[in-house]
Amino acid sequence: MRHLIDTTDISVAEVDQIISTALDIIAHREKYAEACKGKKLATLFYEPSTRTRLSFTSAMMELGGSVLGFSDAASSSVSKGETVADTVRVLGCFADIIAMRHSKEGAPLVASHYSRVPVINAGDGSHAHPTQTLTDLLTIRREKGRLDNLTIGFCGDLKFGRTVHSLIKALSRYEGINVVLIAPEELRLPSYIRREVCDKNNIPTREVTTMEEVLPELDILYMTRVQKERFLDEEEFERLKDSFILNPERMKAAKPDMIVLHPLPRVNEITRDVDNDPRAAYFRQVENGKFVRMALIYTLLKWAEEQPVEGETPRLRGEEMHNDWQCSGRQCISNAEDVDKLFHPTEDGEYRCAYCESKVKK
Ligand code: ASP
Repeated sequence: MRHLIDTTDISVAEVDQIISTALDIIAHREKYAEACKGKKLATLFYEPSTRTRLSFTSAMMELGGSVLGFSDAASSSVSKGETVADTVRVLGCFADIIAMRHSKEGAPLVASHYSRVPVINAGDGSHAHPTQTLTDLLTIRREKGRLDNLTIGFCGDLKFGRTVHSLIKALSRYEGINVVLIAPEELRLPSYIRREVCDKNNIPTREVTTMEEVLPELDILYMTRVQKERFLDEEEFERLKDSFILNPERMKAAKPDMIVLHPLPRVNEITRDVDNDPRAAYFRQVENGKFVRMALIYTLLKWAEEQPVEGETPRLRGEEMHNDWQCSGRQCISNAEDVDKLFHPTEDGEYRCAYCESKVKK
């Protein structure tokens, strides 16, 4: 059974296939109007979401399928203490495919170990958001005509911004990618991504603290919001929340064909008067999200038909099970629910948690 938990669960060729399907859907909407007729999508959203949940909902509706689920944890059995594993076992009896958002990192991975239908990670804590990445890739393809030979600047909260983590992983598989990280010291990209994704794949990566010094060289500026809900210290959030603000004055320094992306919601980091600049691609990006989710649901359901259910087998891919170890991640599902503790060895001889990538607590 194929799931989409992390961007790299699907190969570059499969990403291309999903993007081509999305482009075909855009060109021939009527052809797909009944493509998932009789199929049901369950949206299990344990954490607030507007566009991702509704994007999944409208994607399934446009494929002729139907949707069930919940939009906050309080209205689900989790409020009675049900585990993620049990919830997906139950939901697999009602639905053909599941999209899950959870504040605990690794919850969708746990779900995939117990589900008999495909599970899509719709965002887990500050860890990953692979369907936003597919959205970003489709947008880049449509706006720039390619996914290689690009200089992309990531600006804002690179520490907690899960969309940044997933997109960097995805882009590291293409040729000629240059990454510029624009963040205050406190919100720098997690070092494991810098080391194990950028450095390992020889991606030229630069860290700067102001937008001005790099804007003229960027093909893409990926703006992000400072993730208020992930801060423990409200004062620190207040101090950092307006670290970077993109405005028309700053846009003057950018290339005429640079595009501005943002996973939304926007708070203050892009002023409203940038919206009419043709380079502001963030609302076009939202629409691409629906098309790429249609392509993903369609593809995963097709793969599920072709592959038999394997039963409850954790997909161990080089991970080791050490139930006597503990992950150091504050938001890790393995510290919240009774799950098998899985770790993978890193090149520097350490171990990191398979659910959230944090180090082992010694
Ligand atoms: N919508 C994106 C996410 O769910 C970005 C954000 O919330 O800032 O991660």
